[in-house]
Amino acid sequence: MISLNQDIKILLFDIEGTTSSIAFVHEVLFPFARNNALEYLTKHWDYPEVLALGQKIIEEARNLIKEDRFDFGLPTPELAFQAVCQLMDCDAKVTGLKHLQGLIWKEGFVAKQIQSHVYPEVAKALESFKKNGFRLFIYSSGSIQAQKLYFQHTIYGDLLSFFEGHFDTTSGNKTDSQSYQNISDKIGVKPSEICFFSDAVKEIFAARYASMQTVWVVRPGNGLSDPPEGPQITNFGELALGPQ
Ligand SMILES: [Mg+2]
Repeated sequence: MISLNQDIKILLFDIEGTTSSIAFVHEVLFPFARNNALEYLTKHWDYPEVLALGQKIIEEARNLIKEDRFDFGLPTPELAFQAVCQLMDCDAKVTGLKHLQGLIWKEGFVAKQIQSHVYPEVAKALESFKKNGFRLFIYSSGSIQAQKLYFQHTIYGDLLSFFEGHFDTTSGNKTDSQSYQNISDKIGVKPSEICFFSDAVKEIFAARYASMQTVWVVRPGNGLSDPPEGPQITNFGELALGPQ
């Protein structure tokens, strides 16, 4: 069992690889966006916002992928879809594409065509953390809007209400220790009152450098032969709560 330092009041969680499987994003979310992109674009093309988004994605493809069709083709749902596929194939981190993916996921979550993954003990653990008086926050590189959508529609139901707040890369990069100071400032506590949980060693070191307590989370498939020093768990049931 791992004990938290006595002054810890806040628990701050990474999502991918910590509360949830990394594979879910790559094996479910991204294919869902691609498989439904043409239908989504076609169905909503008459809406000015979707037309503008489609044009933006074609422009993103024009900038990154040198092909005549993106230079000279008429903006149609089909051309926008071709741009989506090309951009996804090269893993482009561009805002138009990300925005469209978010819209498609939202429809899928609301229609219950997709449900987000959390590990089996997470819902119970969040409940017991709250009962023990901890304040819970998320820090993920996914946008705050996407984080909320994610926890609203998990396989274990709506877990969003357990979290008091969310942080994304607008607070800084997750491997930059200043980001953890920024988050402490925004919550209004000292970094030493926060415990950060992540599967990523670089994030653990960045948070520790900012004086947060850290717990490295080892989930199936993400262990290391040379693990970082310090506390580690394989599930949240390994945390000792309550008076120490
Ligand atoms: Mg992670």
